Amino acid sequence: MSAPDFYNKFFVERVILIMEDLQILLRQHVGKPCKSVVKAGDTVKRGTLIAVPDGLGANIFSSADGTVKEVLSDKIVITPSEKQSEDYIKIPEGSKLDMVKYAGIVGMGGAGFPTGIKIDAKFNGSGYVLVNASECEPGLRHNIQRLEENPEPIIRGAKYVMEISGADKIIFAVKKKNRKAVENIDKLIANEPAISRFLLPDIYPMGEERAVVRECLGIELKPSELPMVAKAVVINSETCLRIAEAIEQRKPSFLKDITVRGQLNGGNEAHVFEDVPVGTSVGSLIEKAGGIDEGTCGYGEIIMGGAFTGRACKIDEPITKTTGAILVTRPFLDLHNEKLGLLVCACGANLERMKDLAAKYNGNVASVCYCHQAEEQKNGTRKCERPGNCPGQVSNNLQFKKDGCKYILIGNCSDCSNTVMASGPKMGLKVLHITDHAMRAVGHPLYRTLRVSKKVDQDLNVVDNVEQENPEN
Ligand code: SF4
Repeated sequence: MSAPDFYNKFFVERVILIMEDLQILLRQHVGKPCKSVVKAGDTVKRGTLIAVPDGLGANIFSSADGTVKEVLSDKIVITPSEKQSEDYIKIPEGSKLDMVKYAGIVGMGGAGFPTGIKIDAKFNGSGYVLVNASECEPGLRHNIQRLEENPEPIIRGAKYVMEISGADKIIFAVKKKNRKAVENIDKLIANEPAISRFLLPDIYPMGEERAVVRECLGIELKPSELPMVAKAVVINSETCLRIAEAIEQRKPSFLKDITVRGQLNGGNEAHVFEDVPVGTSVGSLIEKAGGIDEGTCGYGEIIMGGAFTGRACKIDEPITKTTGAILVTRPFLDLHNEKLGLLVCACGANLERMKDLAAKYNGNVASVCYCHQAEEQKNGTRKCERPGNCPGQVSNNLQFKKDGCKYILIGNCSDCSNTVMASGPKMGLKVLHITDHAMRAVGHPLYRTLRVSKKVDQDLNVVDNVEQENPEN
């Protein structure tokens, strides 16, 4: 598939409801699992409150009319009624902030932080709302799709965030390659002096929260610092949409937009499903998208989320408020138990996920290194000191060589993958990237040598220096 085709061919569908039991997880957010407020046998409607926070968290609502089948420690199972109404139970009227909180909205870019807490920023008339429309993970389309087809509610949602947080400016951060979305934004904000847009390059991880702050505001935050330090709130574009729905339609959060893509019958174009009821199974969405193309060699794995930050999942798992994608990958290469080094990034897979991939590659993990900017945090996770700007990788490659590795599996950002390639192959190391099996399945160039500029001209009509990429590069 040529580059323009890769970005422009896709299908859009609205999934009203697939008639199967819905599994609504009690933990769909940062914080503790919610507590159920329903019991087996209860009748529920779309929008019935079924679980409430137990500490940090967000309300959870039924995404269908039906009956509670069972309440388990981690989920509520709902059997949908044969007849479904288009209507839903409305949330109580209140202040805009109260409505966002009650609606149970969480960060839909994947983080799942309760939105009502995040946007209660008290900027007092001086601050930024940075709308993250970067669609950072390769191959996904659902955020951009909304901006191409119906951007107005997203812009209204961003304005509500500006009002609630006390900010005085909004900046839409969007990749320059998404021309139609950018043109829509430009048209709609032409007479809005408080709103502007910033064009991002098509490199990973442009959607990392601190990368958005750095690109839009020129402020480099430390790994331990939140955007609040730069007087900014970073909010995902779908989250803005759900905020507008909560305030204008008193609609609770029980729907999610999702991209389904990969090794599917009918081709590897993106299937964008809008307003999918939370609790729908991965398998039923894959079936809706055509079903898995088993080919002659089967498939590799199913990823819930993007290829960088997602995890392997089972076909009967449910989607949540934070699920952005389901990717069916190509089969794994067989490394025949050869020695493999793992190079872990802070903005992609963690060590556990990389070990999972190493096992699927049948590699013998002989060495583990971290990117030098992947700084360990107090809670044991890692955050990048300067997301997307490589500190150099020669010393890690030398370590892999010393440890006798034949292959290295890297999880690095675009810039660091480029740097690994500058020395690794010369040392005789064969380079694999954690996203390879997914990128082959969706027809995206592999993460190896960087061929796009790290900065783009802010004029949409200026063509930046981009080399044609080869999907097998
Ligand atoms: S600089 Fe290192 S830690 Fe940061 S995004 Fe790139 S690979 Fe990850």
